[in-house]
Amino acid sequence: MNILDQRLKHLLPKPNTEAIERAKRMVEAIYESIPSLDCKKCGECCGTITFSGIERLIIEEYVAKKGLSLESFTVTRNCPALDENNNCVIYQVRPMICRLYGVSEGLLCPYVEPEVVIPKKLAWECIGFCYKVSKELDTIGRITDKTVRWHKGIVRRLKKLRK
Ligand code: SF4
Ligand code: SF4
Repeated sequence: MNILDQRLKHLLPKPNTEAIERAKRMVEAIYESIPSLDCKKCGECCGTITFSGIERLIIEEYVAKKGLSLESFTVTRNCPALDENNNCVIYQVRPMICRLYGVSEGLLCPYVEPEVVIPKKLAWECIGFCYKVSKELDTIGRITDKTVRWHKGIVRRLKKLRK
């Protein structure tokens, strides 16, 4: 962050705790609506990943609560959350991209066929939502009604896929 960004950040409203908690619940509702995969835990897909600010917060809270230190795990591949037995140590709070892998169009696993495939556009919306809600918290300190409606649509379409 450059000096101008730092100065501007002081002018931005601080997100209130309620808005942050709400955003976390919204992201988690999407997590729960994504169909699971019978993953064989080969660890091949666990490489470099990116995730939004709100997901980082969810992971940081989980890591602190569980008393984990990601640095203490053997880093055999790029993601520090993958241990030497190919287990994800933050599996319960793994980011959106990890959940979409294997069950989304264009992100299919070469070893396991999913029961349901999420269309590419909807998969990108799941990721986009996380970044959007993080940006709203950072810039206006709240979640807009438009984003709330978008979230409802994403969850509804994900649930519909599983019927
Ligand atoms: S999703 Fe597929 S590639 Fe990734 S760990 Fe599971 S079985 Fe391996
Ligand atoms: S967070 Fe977990 S599932 Fe995602 S890449 Fe890292 S080890 Fe794999």
